[in-house]
Amino acid sequence: MTLALALLGSTGSIGRSTIEVVRHHPERLRVATLAAFGRDLDRLESQARELAPELVAVYDEERAREFARRLPDLEIVAGAEGVRAAATHEAVDRVVAAIVGAAGLAPTHAAVVAGKDVALANKEALVVAGPLLMREARARGVEIVPIDSEHVALHQALRCGAPHEVRRLILTASGGPFRQRPRESWDAITPQEALAHPTWEMGRKISIDSATLMNKGLELIEARHLFDVAPEAIDVVVHPQSLVHSMVEFADGSWIAQLSVNDMVFSVQYALSFPERWANDFPRLDPGALGALEFEPLDEERFRSISLARQAVAAGGSAPAVLNAVNEVAVHAFLDERIGFPAIVETVETVLDRHQPGVVESLEDALHWDAWGRRRANEELSSGN
Ligand code: NAD
Ligand code: MG
Repeated sequence: MTLALALLGSTGSIGRSTIEVVRHHPERLRVATLAAFGRDLDRLESQARELAPELVAVYDEERAREFARRLPDLEIVAGAEGVRAAATHEAVDRVVAAIVGAAGLAPTHAAVVAGKDVALANKEALVVAGPLLMREARARGVEIVPIDSEHVALHQALRCGAPHEVRRLILTASGGPFRQRPRESWDAITPQEALAHPTWEMGRKISIDSATLMNKGLELIEARHLFDVAPEAIDVVVHPQSLVHSMVEFADGSWIAQLSVNDMVFSVQYALSFPERWANDFPRLDPGALGALEFEPLDEERFRSISLARQAVAAGGSAPAVLNAVNEVAVHAFLDERIGFPAIVETVETVLDRHQPGVVESLEDALHWDAWGRRRANEELSSGN
């Protein structure tokens, strides 16, 4: 049987890795719908011509009109409604949620409510509304399988024991480009330097999150919800080679780790093939060429993001949504050279410290707190703090 995919965020880094996996398995996978913001219409056009989807959603209305002129025979829909239609289309079996940021929450939620299984790259959706999404998924028997490499590793390792036998999850972090850069020189960090990730090729937002280590904070919250493990039982260790993608420690003292080449095609294929494993001929690890695998503790004084994520998840309710919203605004301000690198995490900390959490029981609540966090972040940034 061919699995029909909705590919949300098709023009991005995960979107392109997904298409590589689809090309590799033409007898098993096909793309039924595509969705993208519309910034890169040339790429979206070549994807639509190659994959012949039933429907393409272009979020930006102006870009959607231009796209419709280019491909008059294709069904093209626009705006948030259009992206939702791509996520819930009747032909779709599994939704690849690869939109970046909280913008991915509403379509991912719509997919779950429509009973579609989800291969989830969009970790921000779980950070903003984890309990809600997991509850909706459980109620409908919907499977949410991660694409994030650490969580793909944990998902596999957790298959080695029962939930009550798990002692802790150990997330690995590359440490990013500034692992060894003296803290005194962080004011001078440029977007180009921060975008140059040592081990992974990724989109701009997650590359900055990897440099501040906020990515690992978001991943801690993601793991907490995906696997229903208490935040205290999730640790982070720095592993600069990014070949061990994460580990589970079981009650008897055994650790199970997962390794593969650091290319997202492996994680995407896992999320699309689960519960099966499909043969492929992507480049493999070579045991003789592995070299040294190093591990070191994370310096939580230099990288405050992990403790902020712990603080947000402990506060609960709207606090993780606010952490995420402020981070998104601050990352864009840094990329636009409006603030320095250290101000990203400082802004998150300032807003989070003063936030009185509210409840997140519906999608509307989650979107309300996301918008609230964005407003507060902009106020904070324009006050020059
Ligand atoms: P990216 O910036 O390369 O791509 C983002 C995609 O989302 C683009 O196709 C863009 O058009 C689309 N998009 C943005 N806003 C949209 C909107 N409102 N409506 C419809 N489409 C919209 O990002 P990426 O690196 O591919 O990351 C995507 C997600 O996957 C993020 O949540 C990221 O944290 C997660 N992730 C990425 C990697 C990686 O290796 N890149 C690894 C793990 C997890
Ligand atoms: Mg990751």
